[in-house]
Amino acid sequence: MSNRIYNFAAGPSAMPLPVLEEAAREMTNWKGRGLSILEMSHRSKDFVGIYKETVEMLRDLYKIDDDYEVMFLQGGGHLQFAMVPLNFSSEGAGNYAINGVWSKKAFLEAQRLGKAEIAIQTENRAPRDEEIRLSKDASYFYYCSNETVNGIRYPSIPKVGVKLISDMSSDFLSQPVPINKFGLIFAGAQKNFGPAGLTVVIARKELLGKPLDKTPTMLNYETYAKSESMYNTPPTFAIYMSNLVCHWLIKEGGVEEMQRRSIAKSSHLYKVIDESEGFYINKIQKDSRSRMNVVFNLKNEALNEVFLDGAKAKNIGNIKGHRIVGGMRASIYNAVTMEAVETLAEYMKQFAADHS
Ligand code: PMP
Repeated sequence: MSNRIYNFAAGPSAMPLPVLEEAAREMTNWKGRGLSILEMSHRSKDFVGIYKETVEMLRDLYKIDDDYEVMFLQGGGHLQFAMVPLNFSSEGAGNYAINGVWSKKAFLEAQRLGKAEIAIQTENRAPRDEEIRLSKDASYFYYCSNETVNGIRYPSIPKVGVKLISDMSSDFLSQPVPINKFGLIFAGAQKNFGPAGLTVVIARKELLGKPLDKTPTMLNYETYAKSESMYNTPPTFAIYMSNLVCHWLIKEGGVEEMQRRSIAKSSHLYKVIDESEGFYINKIQKDSRSRMNVVFNLKNEALNEVFLDGAKAKNIGNIKGHRIVGGMRASIYNAVTMEAVETLAEYMKQFAADHS
């Protein structure tokens, strides 16, 4: 498939090629059943098998024990910004760490729906534990483990004395996570897990069942926990694709291997930035640099369009930064190969040499 680009999109983003090829092979006739997965009832034995296997693979990948529910929802990260306060602020205030676009949006939604406080606010880095100030009535502490737009990751899991809730949309399945430290984590699938339209929620069972009175049935986590995520029709095709991604991930070596690769890929790009003598700038404190979204600016912003055009000519796509922060962003999720990263790194070095 030589006409495919090196895709650095932030999400929806690159999918593993073997996954796309398998889905294409099976598209019109799934495993000889005479129909597509798209045409199958979500209550059929075959589909329920795919669903259960996907949950099991996630449990294996993250070593998730029976104290936790693994649920498949819709509505993306944005709906989780609402579901978290609806389900967890009946006993106190949500305490939020704000250090980028997505944690800020989550806080604003929580403030609208329940009780929410800012526990810490930082720029260009993740906060340190000793800076976090919880309110007296704190019910949970919320943070975004990887700020996709800003390119900021938490180097370690915050230690706070209340339920820990994390938006892991953009670093899901990219590293081992000790799930038992968390009350709940969620992730939109469209970066490392599968296509847009599916959101995975992993929650400690004992915390469910205390939503605010006004919570609609479909926004109560318990609805999904009690129905194996089939209270209504789930996003079947997205779950099927995520099933294929899990098979691929396990074959490639699991989350430990993904962590090794993401360190190698991100270090390679940050090295080019750091050795460019200020031609490329990354403003994030070094220990908080994202391993998924490498964000950088050209010192001479007037060269932005030339840089993007030159990248396109080398088959490098989707590296324009988010409209809010500008500059460039190379998203290097699990399906982005080292070959793609090396191609981008070589291009960046050559471009800097040609325009210095
Ligand atoms: N959280 C994070 C960390 C994200 O990267 C995104 C989207 N890129 C969202 C939340 C919002 O996700 P959605 O568009 O699926 O609502």
